[in-house]
Amino acid sequence: MASVALSDRLRTLLRGNGPVVFLTGAGVSAESGLATFRGPGGLWRGRDPMDLATPDAFARDPGLVWEFYDWRRAQAAAAAPNAAHRALAELERSIPEFLLVTQNVDGLHERAGSREIVRLHGTLWRVRCVREGTEIEDLRPRLAPLPPRCVCGELLRPAVVWFGEALPEDAFAAAARAARRSALLVVAGTSSLVYPAASLPAIAKSEGAYLVEVNPEATALSPLADEVLRGPAGEIVPLLAEAAGAIREGAR
Ligand code: NAD
Repeated sequence: MASVALSDRLRTLLRGNGPVVFLTGAGVSAESGLATFRGPGGLWRGRDPMDLATPDAFARDPGLVWEFYDWRRAQAAAAAPNAAHRALAELERSIPEFLLVTQNVDGLHERAGSREIVRLHGTLWRVRCVREGTEIEDLRPRLAPLPPRCVCGELLRPAVVWFGEALPEDAFAAAARAARRSALLVVAGTSSLVYPAASLPAIAKSEGAYLVEVNPEATALSPLADEVLRGPAGEIVPLLAEAAGAIREGAR
């Protein structure tokens, strides 16, 4: 069990004294058994996911990239939301001005009950026609045959943002707007290396937000944070939800 003390300032802000934004990354799903890209277990068949999650990789070998995504869909479907996902859903219900911004594509926040989510990097559970750009929901954990094709005959691709691609404009604008207005921004489970998502904490701080990091490891963000809570999200986020009065103490 992580032993961390929350400051009085953080407790006050969690009691709803101003807008609260949480920014989550792959680390929040680590305790659900989903590997982060940069952490242990990040390799897939000996390959670096960052070489597969790119437009170039898809152009070169769509079948291989789809095998990787098919595997990720199956892993995510078999995983269950953890205490951090659940606590975030409770925080949304209890803090009047609350927004969850995520870089995760696994759908676990949705399954834990979070309703209003800004998804910066898309989702594994939608596919998009590379010719028409039309997106459709596809909740099957495994697709066959690979690579899947649109009714128009063209390839379908995962509706996620690959390295080197632009973020959906609306999503980033909504996240930046919320960051600018926030009194408190909590960054949980992200290495803060992937831009522009990683620029949100600095945007928030420059407008006066209190910046908190939840991560068992030091990151590029740590020096900028006003408060660093070292430990796994599955232990720390429920502590934050308790401090907010969103869940009863010990009810994790
Ligand atoms: P990352 O792999 O770069 O960093 C993960 C961070 O999580 C690290 O800083 C690590 O110290 C931290 N971490 C590990 N275990 C943790 C825990 N139990 N609690 C809290 N933090 C923990 O991930 P990123 O910063 O999200 O960026 C990588 C990109 O990969 C993102 O674009 C994301 O979309 C994508 N990605 C998503 C998933 C997912 O949806 N589950 C998984 C892998 C990668």
